[in-house]
Amino acid sequence: MKKFGLIASMLATLCITTAPAAQSQELYWATSGFFGPFNIQGLIPTYPEAKQITIPVSMWVLKHPKGVVVFDTGNNVAISDSMDNCKKYWAAGNCDFLKPNQKRSDVIDMQLKKLGLSVDDVKAVVHSHSHLDHIGNIGMFPKAIHVMQKKELYQGWWPEKIQGRAVNGSFVLADIAAARDFNYLELDGEYDLFGDGTVKLIPTPGHTIGHQSMKVKLPKTGSVIITQDAVWMQENMDGYVAGLNYSVKDYTDSVNKIKMMRDLEGAQVLMSHDANQFAKLGDRWHK
Ligand SMILES: [Zn+2]
Repeated sequence: MKKFGLIASMLATLCITTAPAAQSQELYWATSGFFGPFNIQGLIPTYPEAKQITIPVSMWVLKHPKGVVVFDTGNNVAISDSMDNCKKYWAAGNCDFLKPNQKRSDVIDMQLKKLGLSVDDVKAVVHSHSHLDHIGNIGMFPKAIHVMQKKELYQGWWPEKIQGRAVNGSFVLADIAAARDFNYLELDGEYDLFGDGTVKLIPTPGHTIGHQSMKVKLPKTGSVIITQDAVWMQENMDGYVAGLNYSVKDYTDSVNKIKMMRDLEGAQVLMSHDANQFAKLGDRWHK
């Protein structure tokens, strides 16, 4: 009997180690500090009334059996801890409007450390787009493969004039200059990151020319769509069109695509700058 018990426990161990990839995926929702408070109409000019909001700056850590993935790296470490630091690195106007309150301990390397990981453990960094609050710390990951829509690389280096070409505007040249010679997987469309259907990158242009979102299949939670700036917050889902778009038409198509994916697949939509959602679901792992 003892022998059977041993074989059974060996078989059980074998089953656990050969379980499908989706069984062991975990997703952590972190924030690179908060922006605000400021009037929502500064971001969403179509919103009918003034309202003060304070919003998270979302970053994601995904543990997959084939490696650790970071989705967006937040605000550059240089803006941490004081308004003076912010104004040395970002345009003063952006600091004054966004009012970032990022502490050094909020930055992605420290968030990884808190989770028992280091920047060198990260196999792939996926970038939704090249704005200051999303690609800020790309330079911390020289060993990773960087996954971007190729158009967004062009956009980061030479933004549309309507989106600002100051070297420290919405696109901060120093952020990406630190990573010019990194390894990029330059995409032109959808991509199945690990080839097993659990992590898919989906072009959601409009906010910028090459913005992408990520769909993750989690074993317990099910499918989640991490929109990043394709949908900032619930008010955008409710039909109030965001400002700052490269293309309002493409933005609207992307929001509609996300809504239909939500409805067809029963997927949960997780939004980059939604304070209520972050209060409920942020700062923790999702399985
Ligand atoms: Zn953003």
